[in-house]
Amino acid sequence: MIISDLQMPNMNGFEFLSVVRQRFPAIPVIVISGEFSGISVPESVLADAFFSKGSYKPADLFEKISELLAELPERSIVSKPKRAAVWAKNDKDLLAVTCSACLRTFPVAQAGMGLNEADCEFCASRVVFEIVSEQAVA
Ligand SMILES: [Zn+2]
Repeated sequence: MIISDLQMPNMNGFEFLSVVRQRFPAIPVIVISGEFSGISVPESVLADAFFSKGSYKPADLFEKISELLAELPERSIVSKPKRAAVWAKNDKDLLAVTCSACLRTFPVAQAGMGLNEADCEFCASRVVFEIVSEQAVA
């Protein structure tokens, strides 16, 4: 199991998650971040669980760890989602979206409530993502 922040030296945390998911799909991943909020992060896209730094109880984290370890034997393939994960940077008006095709994360300039589309910066796939919270509108 990997428990990781999104901030790390020499590499973007989203890139790290993408590499882990594509190369080692069976490894459960929990992300803890104070910088980004996972607004609508479909489970298992890049991470199996997301915790906002400073706003969860250790008991919740331990429960999630037990849950993921119990599911472990059945996790061999991670299916690609129809909707992309959306991340909001907490201190800036910045949204980032995880491509459903290549699992890499890129910033989006504009988004409104409901369904949005953007072209992936890396593989040019059309990515569909949904904004479910007013606070996230860029
Ligand atoms: Zn892509």
